[in-house]
Amino acid sequence: MQFALRHRWTGWDENGQLLFQTPDGQRAIDARATVLALGGASWPRLGSDGAWQATLASKGVAISPLRPANCGFLVGWSEIFRDRFEGQPLKGVALTFGPHTIRGEALVTRAGIEGGAIYALSAELREAIAKSAGAALRVALRPDLETGELIRQLSTPRGKQSFSNFLRKAIRLSPVAIGLLQEAAMVSGAALSSLAPAKLAELINAVPLQLNGTTPIARAISTAGGISFDELDADFMIRRLPGIFAAGEMLDWEAPTGGYLLQAAFATGAAAARGILKLPMLFRHG
Ligand SMILES: Cc1cc2nc3c(=O)[nH]c(=O)nc-3n(C[C@H](O)[C@H](O)[C@H](O)COP(=O)(O)OP(=O)(O)OC[C@H]3O[C@@H](n4cnc5c(N)ncnc54)[C@H](O)[C@@H]3O)c2cc1C
Repeated sequence: MQFALRHRWTGWDENGQLLFQTPDGQRAIDARATVLALGGASWPRLGSDGAWQATLASKGVAISPLRPANCGFLVGWSEIFRDRFEGQPLKGVALTFGPHTIRGEALVTRAGIEGGAIYALSAELREAIAKSAGAALRVALRPDLETGELIRQLSTPRGKQSFSNFLRKAIRLSPVAIGLLQEAAMVSGAALSSLAPAKLAELINAVPLQLNGTTPIARAISTAGGISFDELDADFMIRRLPGIFAAGEMLDWEAPTGGYLLQAAFATGAAAARGILKLPMLFRHG
């Protein structure tokens, strides 16, 4: 086995040889079979920049547009909220979009919001934003507390405490969670402290959060879109390019984080390699 480092594949020459840019100039390699595993377009500075799209598209290969997956989303935070809470996690929340609720953690960023629970909903959120330029997420800040129990705790006397201190002590909301509630109250035009316990309880477990867009693909964990499965045979060979196989994030699939992406990349790579072993010319050359 030989690794050829710092070789950038740029396509094929007129004889069908693979072309590489190398530190010593252009190099052509004759290959009996090739597995392309060039990744998607997230974190391009690590090498996966999706430049292969133009090369394959010029050969007529259908490619569904590359889109961010497991990505963050843009939120129009107020300056005060952004400056105070950027980088802070919303822990133990439940996020609801349409019929799906995900419990976990989300991180406030300068541009919006990201993190595990957001990534889990990212495919649906992304598609909704593509259709209607926005998506309304609901955040439950205390999903473990029933509304009745929340109302009971919010009805206890506040005394001389500030409203934020009251929320922090009565129902153990973190400063960033209280900040999020204040953002929502500001949008609705009502002061948080003026809400009756029942209204406040309702808001605490369904804070509306308007998402205005996805963060750029360069910052996404993974990539949706890629080489259409219609272009592949059962062994991951690109039908219109005999002997050329493709695997991993180059293909048109997406998956959640948690090992599923790596598993799919390894599995399609292994399947492509098995496909190569089936090629008649390899049997011939032994
Ligand atoms: C921050 C982060 C965290 C992640 N966490 C997880 C996780 O917890 N669990 C999980 O399952 N997945 C995770 N992933 C996703 C996972 O890393 C990818 O799904 C997986 O690496 C995709 O494998 P791949 O081989 O298709 O592409 P890549 O790993 O992107 O590999 C493609 C390679 O091809 C090279 N390349 C591209 N173009 C060319 C060219 N023209 N010539 C030569 N070489 C080229 C690139 O430099 C790169 O080395 C994470 C990703 C990121 C960015």
